[in-house]
Amino acid sequence: MNALSTLERVKQHLIELKMASALEALDGVLSRVERGEISTLEAFEALLGEENTLRESRRIRAQLMTSRLTHIKTLESFDFSFQPSLDRNRILTLAQLSFIDRHQTVHLLGPPGVGKSHLAIALGVAAVKARKSVYFTTLAELIATLTKAERQGSLATRLRYINRVALLVIDELGYLPIEKGGANLFFQLVNARYEKGATILTSNRGFKDWGEIFGDNVVAAALLDRLLHHAVVVEINGNSYRLREHADLIPESLKSFTAAQEHLPKHKPGRPRKTAPAEVG
Ligand code: ADP
Ligand code: MG
Repeated sequence: MNALSTLERVKQHLIELKMASALEALDGVLSRVERGEISTLEAFEALLGEENTLRESRRIRAQLMTSRLTHIKTLESFDFSFQPSLDRNRILTLAQLSFIDRHQTVHLLGPPGVGKSHLAIALGVAAVKARKSVYFTTLAELIATLTKAERQGSLATRLRYINRVALLVIDELGYLPIEKGGANLFFQLVNARYEKGATILTSNRGFKDWGEIFGDNVVAAALLDRLLHHAVVVEINGNSYRLREHADLIPESLKSFTAAQEHLPKHKPGRPRKTAPAEVG
């Protein structure tokens, strides 16, 4: 059997194994072996490395779609110097993802534009890269989904589907008021998830406002009871990144709505919160 036919057969194997990347790299790698630039073992490594890199990026892309993470943000693209109140190391520690294994809840709180969604998405993306299952949603979308499932008689299935993920990211709690039915559905989800999975919540409102947001102090207290147990609370008290070039154009009358969050209750992360129900409403 001559060299050419062996090469042809290698190519045939790569085609049948659907290793398009390795196939594409083959001629180049072989020339490098012939020129004595790399050893045979290094050639194997180069071919398998090419293929593996391609497959990994395909896997990540598919998982990001499944996770509904379509507007990608990363920690690398987050400018920490713009947000001095934010402890960079705390975010980098979260990006190690052990909060997911500990089924913790992370609250990212602060006024509009400070990067809450950016950081929540970036942590979700980091989790996907680390092969964790993720589901990203806004609270309004989540409640709409649960409401629809309830109407169709498939609520239990839907709750199980959402709660199966290792990390649930719920963006924008507090922007829109929740109807009573919606608050009850959200409570069912949170209660079923409690101590079984990790959650990231972003909000422009303090915990004291939850009674108003959910239209019911009892439900809000029950939600906070679960969502503040084993919780990490990250407050970002800075300026809006969106408005960084136009801060002077915001009317005085609206400035307080974009200014730093007031009256967030002081809470030690990781400890049960005995006083939460009393403080709500
Ligand atoms: P929030 O959810 O707090 O309202 P976002 O995360 O949506 O704010 O941020 C608004 C926009 O500004 C997004 O495009 C986001 O990527 C960007 N952004 C916010 N903070 C930063 C930052 N510190 N560095 C880089 N981009 C940022
Ligand atoms: Mg946001």
